[in-house]
Amino acid sequence: MSTTNHDTTRQVALITGASRGIGQALALGFADAGYDVIVTDLPQTETELRKTAEMIGLRDRKAWLYTLDVSKREQIDATVQRALADAGRIDVLVNNAGILKPSLLQDLDEKTWDAHFDVNVKGVLMMCQAIMPHMRTRRSGRVINIASIAGRQGVATQGHYAATKSAVITLTRVLAQEAGMDGVTVNAICPGIILTEMGRNNLGSEEAVRHWEEVAALKRLGKPEDIVGPALFFASEQSAFVTGQALNVCGGIYFH
Ligand code: NDP
Repeated sequence: MSTTNHDTTRQVALITGASRGIGQALALGFADAGYDVIVTDLPQTETELRKTAEMIGLRDRKAWLYTLDVSKREQIDATVQRALADAGRIDVLVNNAGILKPSLLQDLDEKTWDAHFDVNVKGVLMMCQAIMPHMRTRRSGRVINIASIAGRQGVATQGHYAATKSAVITLTRVLAQEAGMDGVTVNAICPGIILTEMGRNNLGSEEAVRHWEEVAALKRLGKPEDIVGPALFFASEQSAFVTGQALNVCGGIYFH
């Protein structure tokens, strides 16, 4: 018998940074799997975010959209309140929003360092602080944090970004320990190189794409949809005894 109240009727997933890339693939993947979906992203992405919501509607699932900067606590608190009033519940939180602006650590300015920690780390913490009490009261919930293999390995020109993703893995482990007694699991996904706007900008050239395709055990780089299956697993009852873990989803370019 399950120790949680994880029920399978009309579940609701909230996904940050859902207007494009991995976040959009997750929003559509959760809709395909039967979830109603709350999509959020920065105000300037509203047109694209609306398209994501429309695509969810075409799948006969409900969609709610809110513009939200995850680095702003007052926006998070107001948005979560509205989302809970509109959708009635949040079963799954996917902290996907993130930024990467490459720089050598030697040249890194404080503003860039702070911006990465504000969005990639504080954003994850504040979203969890806003939504996990609701999950803990219901004794049911799943949190999925999108980290990165950069957070395990460290990558030249991404030291600040890698440090944020290491922090996300640690937050995942601690939040899991602090919320497990209330039936909430917290896990992380560490994508490898995924061919989104961020992934392509980061690689910079077709030559680099080909190099990493050759390095990968599966001889290809990732599509945003490659993250959907692992996320649905962490969201599902099948992962009821899995918490505080970080799963590499990288096609075999990194093995630790
Ligand atoms: P994209 O840059 O394609 O999408 C990220 C989304 O997050 C954008 O819509 C962006 O909005 C939004 N965003 C940025 N800042 C904020 C903020 N302050 N508040 C709310 N939303 C924000 O990235 P990916 O889809 O590639 O990445 C998604 C996640 O996966 C990130 O956490 C990333 O670090 C991680 N990841 C990605 C990898 C890859 O190779 N692509 C590899 C490993 C991890 P806007 O368009 O306005 O900037």
